[in-house]
Amino acid sequence: MDRPGALPTYSPSRISTYESCPRQYKYRYIDRIPRDEESIEAFLGSRVHEALNKLYRDLQLDKDPSLPGLLDYYEWDWGRRWHDQVRIVKQDYSIDHYKRLGKRCLVNYYQAHKPFDRGQTVGLEHRVTSSLDQAGRYRIQGYVDRLVRVRPGHYEVHDYKTSGRLPPQDQIDTDRQLALYQLGVVGMWPDAEEIELVWHYLAFGKELRSRRTPEALERLKTATIALIDRIEADTEFTPIKSLLCQWCAYLSICPIWTGRTAETAALPVGVTGDGGSKGISASGDGMSIDLRSFLREALVEAIRAAAETEAGEVRVSEDGRLWVHLDEPTEPDASNGRADGWIQLSEESLSLLLRQVERGRWSAEIVEKLERYLATDSLGDIT
Ligand code: SF4
Repeated sequence: MDRPGALPTYSPSRISTYESCPRQYKYRYIDRIPRDEESIEAFLGSRVHEALNKLYRDLQLDKDPSLPGLLDYYEWDWGRRWHDQVRIVKQDYSIDHYKRLGKRCLVNYYQAHKPFDRGQTVGLEHRVTSSLDQAGRYRIQGYVDRLVRVRPGHYEVHDYKTSGRLPPQDQIDTDRQLALYQLGVVGMWPDAEEIELVWHYLAFGKELRSRRTPEALERLKTATIALIDRIEADTEFTPIKSLLCQWCAYLSICPIWTGRTAETAALPVGVTGDGGSKGISASGDGMSIDLRSFLREALVEAIRAAAETEAGEVRVSEDGRLWVHLDEPTEPDASNGRADGWIQLSEESLSLLLRQVERGRWSAEIVEKLERYLATDSLGDIT
């Protein structure tokens, strides 16, 4: 419980939530609006963490963990924890797909670390706390997945990740979460002269390591204090619309998405479930800025909603224009803006694209091409 007038105790995830969307931060940490919903990615992550904790709990009790036993536990825990508020955003993946991914993570970890004899586990889901300033005003807390004492004075802070993305080393070397945990470990174990940060990217069977210099830790403290000051001074908590909105538990009450239901959440902003659209304006000599930005947003959202559908193709002609074909593709005719089912992206084609999104989903190939096209920032050329 935070003392009246004192700053709340921050965690790395609390800070990251603010950075990705201040409004989501407000809903979660200030208004404390409860949400039963859980993304399947979060559910899967919890089950894998729980299984690995069980593995090390067994080892602490001199029980030799077998791989079949570990996978049986994972299956059992998955079944008993499953609830009807687990949400799958990526509709082209099934529950089984996620469950198998969790198993793969565990098999990778088990095979790489058996017989699990590196160092001594001194904490599982271990709470660490620290102060960023001398006065103790800026307090940080977190939970270390596994804290290991490799030898006297040498500790490792381990973190399990089930993410499908493997970060580059430079991102690991500037990661805030484990470095803040390191501060906690230093404060709680004064004999810790050497601390190594270890990330297990389980889906890839890959371990990434990093160390922090005392100077880097001082810079981290200063930057984190500045960030906490910014959060404390915020009164607006402006929502930041992004692709992450699809995973946000507060999407249904967020002003950016007002009026949108869970069913229409995957559709572009301004497009209703019945295929109508709003918020588009066009000037006489082409699209207005509003329409261009709407189109860009709509496409980004549509791409996120993409998966399989009828035959379709996307091409960019030499003059940089985007062409989309939603049926059997032939050759586009750049001279008149339309030919044999090919549509040059425009105000008119937008509504066709949106209808297509509503009906079904696009192929991975179309998605990839659209993503490449949007990345070139050439959408502003469409008139
Ligand atoms: S739906 Fe998006 S903009 Fe709204 S609170 Fe959630 S993350 Fe923020």
